[in-house]
Amino acid sequence: MLVNSPFSEKPAILGGIPCLPAGPPAWPFPSAATTQVLQEAQKTGLWGKYHGPWTKELQQRLCELHQKDEALLCSSGTVAIELALRGLNVGPGDEVILAAYDFEGNFKNILTVDATPMLVDVDRRNGNLDIELVEQAITPATRCILVSHLHGGLVPMRALTAIAAARGIPVIEDACQVPGAMIEGRTAGSWGEIGTLSFGGSKLLTAGRGGAVLTSSPQIAQRIRLYSFRGNDAYPLSELQAGLLIPQLDQLPSQNQLRQENVSHLIRKLGSDSGLTSLENHRLNPAHASAPGYYKLGLWYDSERFEGLPRELFCLAMQAEGIALFPGFRALHAIHSRRRYLQADELSVASECDLRMIVLHHPILLSEAESMTQIAEAVRRIQIHAVEIRQQTTPEIQEAVRKKNSDHSFE
Ligand SMILES: *Cc1c(COP(=O)(O)O)cnc(C)c1O
Repeated sequence: MLVNSPFSEKPAILGGIPCLPAGPPAWPFPSAATTQVLQEAQKTGLWGKYHGPWTKELQQRLCELHQKDEALLCSSGTVAIELALRGLNVGPGDEVILAAYDFEGNFKNILTVDATPMLVDVDRRNGNLDIELVEQAITPATRCILVSHLHGGLVPMRALTAIAAARGIPVIEDACQVPGAMIEGRTAGSWGEIGTLSFGGSKLLTAGRGGAVLTSSPQIAQRIRLYSFRGNDAYPLSELQAGLLIPQLDQLPSQNQLRQENVSHLIRKLGSDSGLTSLENHRLNPAHASAPGYYKLGLWYDSERFEGLPRELFCLAMQAEGIALFPGFRALHAIHSRRRYLQADELSVASECDLRMIVLHHPILLSEAESMTQIAEAVRRIQIHAVEIRQQTTPEIQEAVRKKNSDHSFE
């Protein structure tokens, strides 16, 4: 079948023509709306302000989107999580439940407030916190649950918040990767006592840097304000940054929709035995509407389906094809000293994520469907030539591909 396909030619890493010769799209995409904001900022002088009409409007819009009373803007998603922990008064002696496969900054934030991460395994099909293991991870020292939605997987928040509420434990919902996603009828980030967003440079909503803490608790908001105010806002998001985010909020629903359509298309094109398996949201309650977010698309990599081609080499071969595909996060227990955390179970699925997860970065997901066909073809090409790739890809070639793609390797 592939004999007559132009893609049965040599993979790019062996000297063939890349499937997507233009390479990964640069992010963010320029738009008329952001150009207008920049011009207006210049004209009005708002670019020199910490606070103004744009920060107000952004706060209002974020409150509406998440059905929360307060949206505290700050300088990053990482800071938003730290402020959330401080808002809950998490400190020495406290334990914070966290998936063992998660953004490393979340682990470090828990250490920053002198608390201890209690690592819990992830769900085998969903790749995110396994809510069935949460109950047994709760101890008298548990102060909160910090939970993220990663790689197209969504945590069943209806069930998780019920478990937490029954034990009187607050939840911080990290929606940094999934702004505007829908989980069982509510926007991601709106389920917990606190939700967090990131506006980092690579994120779906971007101001280069930035973040937000969402809450309806006046006590939490007040504690965060007290901590942040040092005679002046210590962690502000500027007026200019807020101005740039507002038009992106308008575009978010249609962009989320397009990303989801492209992911479905790609998964269909890959088929069921490509050696790549996407994460599933099998535990979400189907009685309520859900729609994932795709900062990255997570896929399980099965090297056996690629003649034993190591995951790193597979990713490099895909990068040579012009596709921003990288190994996923390191599992937290795999990269931190045993003295830094507690663990509630064996963390065996998280260990597997550590070895097998790969992630496709989002900008390509706003392309036309043809690009998804090309990605699937690139996978097949590499599969067919896996043995040659393993044998012929010298350290020099690997280094050259790595160098060329370092810009596209984002957190
Ligand atoms: C990016 C990210 C953050 C941190 O956001 P920054 O703005 O980069 O500090 C936190 N959690 C998750 C899951 C993220 O992906």
